[in-house]
Amino acid sequence: MDKEKRMLNAILETIEDGIYVIDNNYTLEYMNSRMTELFGEGTGEKCHRVLNNSDTLCPWCRAPEVFKGNRLYWELYVPKADKTFALTELPLRNPDESVSKLSILRDITERKQREAKLAASEERYQNLFEHVGVGVYISSKEGRFLDANQTFINMMGYASKEELLNIDITRDLYVHPSDRRKFQEMIERDGRVIDYEVEFKRKDGTPITVLLTSHVRYDHQGNVLGYEGITVDQTERYMMEKKLREAYDLMNKIIQSSPSPIMAADLKGNIFIWNRAAEETLGYPASETIGKMHITKIYSEGLAHKIMKMIRSPEHGGVGLLRSHPMLYVRRDGKVIDGSLSAAMIYDDDGNEVATVGSFIDMTERIEMERALQNTQEQLLQSEKLAAMGRLTSQIAHELNNPLFGIMNTLELLKTEIPPENKRRKLLDMSLSETERLAEMLRKMLSFSKPDEEEKGSVNINTIIDELLMLHDKQLRENSIKSKSELAEDMPEIYASRNQMRQVFLNMISNARDAMPEGGTLTFKKWHKKNTVYIEITDTGQGIEEENINRIFDSFFTTKDTVKGVGLGLSVCYGFIKDHGGDIKVKSRSGEGTTFIISLPVYEAPAEEQENEPEETVSTK
Ligand code: ADP
Repeated sequence: MDKEKRMLNAILETIEDGIYVIDNNYTLEYMNSRMTELFGEGTGEKCHRVLNNSDTLCPWCRAPEVFKGNRLYWELYVPKADKTFALTELPLRNPDESVSKLSILRDITERKQREAKLAASEERYQNLFEHVGVGVYISSKEGRFLDANQTFINMMGYASKEELLNIDITRDLYVHPSDRRKFQEMIERDGRVIDYEVEFKRKDGTPITVLLTSHVRYDHQGNVLGYEGITVDQTERYMMEKKLREAYDLMNKIIQSSPSPIMAADLKGNIFIWNRAAEETLGYPASETIGKMHITKIYSEGLAHKIMKMIRSPEHGGVGLLRSHPMLYVRRDGKVIDGSLSAAMIYDDDGNEVATVGSFIDMTERIEMERALQNTQEQLLQSEKLAAMGRLTSQIAHELNNPLFGIMNTLELLKTEIPPENKRRKLLDMSLSETERLAEMLRKMLSFSKPDEEEKGSVNINTIIDELLMLHDKQLRENSIKSKSELAEDMPEIYASRNQMRQVFLNMISNARDAMPEGGTLTFKKWHKKNTVYIEITDTGQGIEEENINRIFDSFFTTKDTVKGVGLGLSVCYGFIKDHGGDIKVKSRSGEGTTFIISLPVYEAPAEEQENEPEETVSTK
């Protein structure tokens, strides 16, 4: 018996679990060494003192149930040991019929912690599975879904997981069932498939393009159980890409079809945009410039630097801008062209400089036209001056003619009084011949000074006026003057010198322009009546003072300063119009604008038959 007891003791002492016995007074009758290790020596003391340092029963105590004869198995965390135990508690009937309680404490702290960790990590994975932004699924080899997350269910347009789990993948999911076979071939050959692009159909039949990444699930024997993987909806990306592509195409078309040359370069000067107009203007094809040519090939290195500086400074249209800067470009064929550059800096979203874009205008033609226009104007001014000189000379000659003939007559008379043999007769003859020479000179001067009798012919007055207005359009616009030429239906041609008519209307235009320094409107009206055409020129300028109105056609009458006016324009016009058998009238009030009405005979009509009644015409309008 003793031997058995000793053996039992030895077993109890070596066992990993804590073992103790209390009597029905909660006094510890026995503790094994593991128990002592955990709670300290306590045999003979109250169990609640040893296990919980307390003089009253432990709050978790279930001893009464055991004393009643029940066996218990439960789990308990004991603060004093900071451990969780699985407790097995049994009633021990003593020979005196009293009942003791045997408790076995198995330390399950680590297991509990592991379980808690596992539960937490499982929850995390479950969360990830449900809430990750891509569709996640597990499917069987036969083509059924075993599980799927909400994202996938939504992506495919199903109302619930059950609904999705019921579909036949090959038939109901794939737009082309053959794609599923391809997918299976790949995945079973390689164990996985990455970014397989495939078209699925949603529950309502609408197609959706997805990227499939999947791997095989095997069972313990290595047989393929099914597949698990993720699907990413590409539809939105495709739509975005399409929109982007469309926007890019449109931009490209706008740039390409722009009539102005457009080029863009990165900050290092490498060209990346070069449109058709740039090809034409500079002679380099896009294929030789984009990604291949440096900007300094078009403007020298120093100039490129200067341009960058100007773009960055606020002085040329604002920081990041360069407005209409005149410059010379060298074409591929070496020809230098006069141009004007407008450029801008391109910034990224953070405001960093990334590139420059420039547009330049080939001004060669415009500059040439302006030069030609200036020449014409200078020539016209010159001929105006010459004509005026001519009129002056002829006026002087006329004035001198009469007294000269008076002198000649007087000298002839004197001849009768002084006989030829008289000594003074020789002096008289000399005076007479000198006077005759003078008269001859005057005659020559008169014929010379007659204004160019330019050949007359049929002239379309509409055309002359329109040409002049076109030529002066820019100049008028710069002076804020709107010009209108009201077309006359069936305007007959007139018989006139084209050049002189041009000079007349040019003079009208420049006078009107001078009269409207603040801008205004210049209107040409034309009409005809019987054998006369009428041209009415109206401006909204400063008008003519009453005391000047009768003097404006006089030579050298001008109210302009000496630089601007010589006062010959209207007198020359008057002369020309009169030469053509026409007339010119003026109506004006100071501050209210001026109207000139010119009347001229039509081509067929002989000058004598023309009707010259502008007054009447004015009143009819
Ligand atoms: P100029 O232009 O050199 O002065 P013109 O013979 O052309 O010589 O004109 C003489 C003057 O007639 C002008 O100085 C001006 O006072 C007046 N005049 C001519 N045309 C107009 C007009 N459209 N409006 C107002 N004044 C005019």
